[in-house]
Amino acid sequence: MKLRFALPVLALLSAVVVTPAATAQADPVQAADACYTWGRTLSQGASGEDVRQLQIRVAGYPGYGAVLAIDGQFGAGTKAAVTRFQQAYGLGADGIAGSATFSKIYALQDNDCTPVNFTYDELNNCNSDWSGGNVSAATARANALVSMWKLQAMRHAMGDRPIDVNGGFRSVSCNNAVGGAAGSRHLYGDAVDLGAGPQGFCALAQQARNHGFNEILGPGYTGHNDHVHVAHKSSRFWSAPNCGI
Ligand SMILES: [Zn+2]
Repeated sequence: MKLRFALPVLALLSAVVVTPAATAQADPVQAADACYTWGRTLSQGASGEDVRQLQIRVAGYPGYGAVLAIDGQFGAGTKAAVTRFQQAYGLGADGIAGSATFSKIYALQDNDCTPVNFTYDELNNCNSDWSGGNVSAATARANALVSMWKLQAMRHAMGDRPIDVNGGFRSVSCNNAVGGAAGSRHLYGDAVDLGAGPQGFCALAQQARNHGFNEILGPGYTGHNDHVHVAHKSSRFWSAPNCGI
């Protein structure tokens, strides 16, 4: 067997191994993941769907009070987020997403692209198809995915203890049934209500400020003494007076 294949294998190697750079770029492809596989190293200046997929995974690393744009353009904000992600996991922190960074992401995500410690099901106890909100079902689900990656970053930063999720997406009828606000972010899929868990409400609300949540509501804010609400929002609104926020 070895003799029979020796010549074809050598021919294949000489054809494929052209430069060291080509070899290095092959790593992410070989680490294929059922959710998404990156096919090239990404650094500042890159653009495309692969950049957008990366931005979703590092959305929880924008820095205090910031929100990372999920726009497919690898700018300074994306570089900083990738660097923080790398630092969080003890990788070489150069802000360039290559095989080590992608390998860590593969290890952190499930086959449906959710981070390993959060699920679509726990972010929707309203209905099964994400319909009936203020955006399309696909958009609501995509928004929830970004919030899950933010929560994964927050969970890791808080010692990898479980974060208690009480719900997320609501259709208009679900929102009305629980007396939610008319413009509630739950209608968009990106809001998540958190239980106290082992961390406690105030630690969760305070930590959330580092992970891309423009809306944080907690103890001391009307109706939020028994949970912490985190969500995306175009402009910042944080209020948890009992937690110093
Ligand atoms: Zn809420």
